Amino acid sequence: MTRKMYIATFGCQMNEYDSGRAARLMVAEGYETTDDPARADLIFINTCGIREKAELKVYSLLGRLKPLKEKNKGLVLAVGGCVAQQEGPAILDRAPYVDLVLGTHGLDQLPPLVREIREDRGRMCRIDFDYNAVRRPDSTAGQGIPGLKAYVTIMQGCDNFCAYCVVPYVRGREVSRQPDDVLAEAEALVKAGAREIMLLGQNVNSYGRGIEPKTTFPDLVRRVAAIPGLWRLRFTTSHPKDLSPELIRTMAEEPVAAEHLHLPVQAGSNAVLKAMGRGYTREAYLEKVAALREALPGLGLTTDVIVGFPGETEEDFAQTMDLIERVRYDGMYSFKYSDRPGTRATAMPDKVDPETAGRRLNDLQTRQKVISLEENRRLVGRRVEVLVESRGIRRPDQLTGRTRTHKIVNFVGPDHLVGRLVSLDIVSAGANSLLGVLPDQNGFLRESFAVE
Ligand code: SF4
Repeated sequence: MTRKMYIATFGCQMNEYDSGRAARLMVAEGYETTDDPARADLIFINTCGIREKAELKVYSLLGRLKPLKEKNKGLVLAVGGCVAQQEGPAILDRAPYVDLVLGTHGLDQLPPLVREIREDRGRMCRIDFDYNAVRRPDSTAGQGIPGLKAYVTIMQGCDNFCAYCVVPYVRGREVSRQPDDVLAEAEALVKAGAREIMLLGQNVNSYGRGIEPKTTFPDLVRRVAAIPGLWRLRFTTSHPKDLSPELIRTMAEEPVAAEHLHLPVQAGSNAVLKAMGRGYTREAYLEKVAALREALPGLGLTTDVIVGFPGETEEDFAQTMDLIERVRYDGMYSFKYSDRPGTRATAMPDKVDPETAGRRLNDLQTRQKVISLEENRRLVGRRVEVLVESRGIRRPDQLTGRTRTHKIVNFVGPDHLVGRLVSLDIVSAGANSLLGVLPDQNGFLRESFAVE
């Protein structure tokens, strides 16, 4: 009987991409995927360490999975991702029913290690950084059937060491993949039916360090954008300090480059930005936003903000509130600062008390919700291009998709529109989504087709 694999993914798009790779690697071993952990012969938990209590969440899930392991002695339980990298053998000690702890550079090792465990070679922990593994082409690239939208990782790790962030410790130093490998993977995905590709990296704007011949991120964007059959190209995450005029020009010139940018500002006060080690000032950030808006009118702009960073005063926070008024983001992910193990900020004095941080977060989110709503309302009465993704989960009577600027649009329409680009007239707006209608039966711009 075919063995089954269940994957639980926490966190960001990078982890979703890695989970997809893990699935493809195990499918090549003869496994098939299942949504039911009780039917699995292999459970892979892909963890995220960015936010507070990440380890607790992992141990709590492991506790819930323990009975499955007791029932099925043949079940292999593996923990990967950032918490695995950070905790290493401590996971094997604390959860003696876990078979494998696999670090962020070790995904390629999943099939042989699972085989070894099945052959009764005991429990294992592999968390060494292997930068060559990151540089090697992905043996599973383009395998399986991608969705309409697909991710392609272009780099691993980060060299920035922002004071609050665990990424450089758990994902290692920045390593870029070879542009030909990125291109081959993107081409294979488009050939198999993907119409939107998102290039992923912790800091895509610094892509290309150590690559010969020299290739910058704008060079890579231009190459991927030229793939026939690709409708939309996105990328994340862009570090503001490395956002170059050349990238802005490339976004404006390449028709498939979508008019959306996620540009994490993190704070609006120069003192806090300096303490965070972000490498830009609020003035420099605002200048880049102005340059983006000039080159890309109607650009969708989203961001991340951390409130309550150590030492943040009321005046600092007021600067953040001022910055969001000036930029008027379409959307924002905002969080209360929390100590992450091993980071510089953990040792910083003047921690902001949780109540104050909570109040600031609430003020920020309340204001941002109004701004998002106002920005969305500006689209009412306009016609927009939407890539239709699926039927709504909460509203199955509606289809749902996204604009080029990454806004969600819901509308009533037939199933066969899924996977197509349609024009929709926007009739109303909420803070998180828009409501559209098909202008007429000829509202299609293009149909989904497989590239020969
Ligand atoms: S740029 Fe800063 S916040 Fe982003 S991954 Fe690197 S260290 Fe973390």
